[in-house]
Amino acid sequence: MSTSSRGVLDQPVCIIGAGVAGLINAHVLLQDGFTNVTLLTRDASVGGVWARERVYPGLYINNVHGEYRFSCLEMPPPERSDATGGRLTGIAMRDYVEKFYETHLKGKAHFSFQTEVLGIERRRASPAGPSIWSVRIKDLPSGQVREENFARIILATGGCSNPQVPPYLSEAAVSGAGYQGLVFHTSQFSTKLDEVLELVKPRVNANGPEDERVVVIGGGKSAQDVCAKLANEGRRVTIVFDRTDVFLASPDPIPDFARKSRFLSILHPHRVLKTRLERFLHTTWLGGKVVHAVMDLLSATSYKAYNIPLDSPFRRAHSLFWSVRLSDDGAVRSDSFYSLIGAGAIDVVAPHRVKGYSTDGSGVTLDDGTTLSAKVVVLATGYQSSWTDIFTKETVEEIGFGKHAPTLPIEDNWRYSSMKDGPKPHPDSRQWTTTIYRGIVPAKNLLHRDFAIAGALFTANPGYTNEVVAHWISSYFQNDRMNIPKTTEEVLVEAEKESVWMKIRFPDMLSWVNDSYSTSLDFWTWPQAADELLEDMGVSPQRSGGGWFTWPFKIVDTKELSTLGEERRALRSAHRRK
Ligand SMILES: Cc1cc2nc3c(=O)[nH]c(=O)nc-3n(C[C@H](O)[C@H](O)[C@H](O)COP(=O)(O)OP(=O)(O)OC[C@H]3O[C@@H](n4cnc5c(N)ncnc54)[C@H](O)[C@@H]3O)c2cc1C
Repeated sequence: MSTSSRGVLDQPVCIIGAGVAGLINAHVLLQDGFTNVTLLTRDASVGGVWARERVYPGLYINNVHGEYRFSCLEMPPPERSDATGGRLTGIAMRDYVEKFYETHLKGKAHFSFQTEVLGIERRRASPAGPSIWSVRIKDLPSGQVREENFARIILATGGCSNPQVPPYLSEAAVSGAGYQGLVFHTSQFSTKLDEVLELVKPRVNANGPEDERVVVIGGGKSAQDVCAKLANEGRRVTIVFDRTDVFLASPDPIPDFARKSRFLSILHPHRVLKTRLERFLHTTWLGGKVVHAVMDLLSATSYKAYNIPLDSPFRRAHSLFWSVRLSDDGAVRSDSFYSLIGAGAIDVVAPHRVKGYSTDGSGVTLDDGTTLSAKVVVLATGYQSSWTDIFTKETVEEIGFGKHAPTLPIEDNWRYSSMKDGPKPHPDSRQWTTTIYRGIVPAKNLLHRDFAIAGALFTANPGYTNEVVAHWISSYFQNDRMNIPKTTEEVLVEAEKESVWMKIRFPDMLSWVNDSYSTSLDFWTWPQAADELLEDMGVSPQRSGGGWFTWPFKIVDTKELSTLGEERRALRSAHRRK
């Protein structure tokens, strides 16, 4: 190994965040020979969203067994696996991340828990010298603030770390209206659960007293999880929403060849169509019809699985094709949100919006002026970017990962038949663009090879995607030869094209993406996105194999990534020998 590559390996890397993205990045760096890896997290334990302090019994997640694991550690099947089709629980995720930490990271990387990053700034010892990242850190128990310097940064602070609460529901609004009950955001649900169960007594009959009620504001997955948990605990709970996430459900578990293969991914168009089948589905008239027929069938089957009436507000959902606001409910369960709705165990007030807290201090006011009394109000109002607070405007500008005026027209250059007659891009989308190459590196900073973002690729298989990204970042940091643009001008254009694609592909998602963490929306098309990253590294894509007709149905297993480190090492040695 040359001195210069050894130099990179010995320089300090800081990973901000100890969720799944931070953990797998730390592991891959250590496997690659990095000797000085530090993880900072404001939590008291590892796991981020799946940390001990966040999960609670009864929380089911969107993923099934095998989809949310890394190649170096098996995950035992979750409880009731046969009945649920391997549906993962929050507890199974917590146990897995904790085992991953104990097995692969504890004592090997430096972990700083309960440590909040307040700011990151790039400094240089000399104008032409390498950058030093100065990280301002607060030790939460003692309140002490200090600075630490690193050569490289991986930002893995997560998209669901910072709650978003509109001003009319904020703490100030609570005191302004004199609301007497308990109010909190869904991110605090686990820590507040006992208090809620203490405050709100179990309902004794179908109606129960009006004020002995929890009101949950929002229609997304977090709102539904909270409602299901409280209803299963016998509490009276009312969900208020304007529009809900679309969901997938089936009477029985979907077989693995359809659920865990590329099958669903190819029904959605990717920016680059690599295979004949994808080209047929998305560029021919017949293919486009097939795609939408399958989407309609999936929607119809899901509504039917739970007997959702035609006039139900749950049918006023985001689109299965044009949106990534989706809950995968899997096989019908008697304790799931939609079963509880069908059984009348959750009250529904929809389509409605909450306008604020009622002036009599008893609850919340709706857009039609009525008041809903409540002992507890849970704000399922979503999450916002975890980046805005920790970077100064100057640093955002210097690295180039803020929004800026577009230089390319926002127009559909792809003209896929499957995307014909879709919603028009929101007019605001013409005002701004982002240029984050592959959802990992701010294009402007590409050549520095000292800053990367992890966990920002929206994906239906977070285990697989995060592991591939971690390898990509490690190669990038080590100056490996990669199939990526060579100049800043080139990469800026490429990254902007990726942004234009997102706006055309998901016009419905603009307001959400605007404030969200996600820099890439390959939710369905995660295998194609992962293949692009594998090609960037020069290793084989489409690793699930299969023949001419069978490849779409081959299970994509994270184990196929287990040799990635060795393959990259071999390539690196070969390139250095040349
Ligand atoms: C209720 C809920 C349910 C979800 N369900 C699913 C699901 O079913 N399927 C799915 O694929 N995804 C789901 N998600 C999305 C989930 O966020 C991702 O799957 C994934 O867990 C994110 O991992 P991450 O490592 O990127 O971020 P996180 O798990 O959010 O970790 C972020 C880390 O960054 C740290 N951090 C943030 N800011 C700072 C700071 N300033 N200083 C120090 N540390 C900081 C946090 O402490 C934490 O360690 C869900 C999210 C939520 C909130």
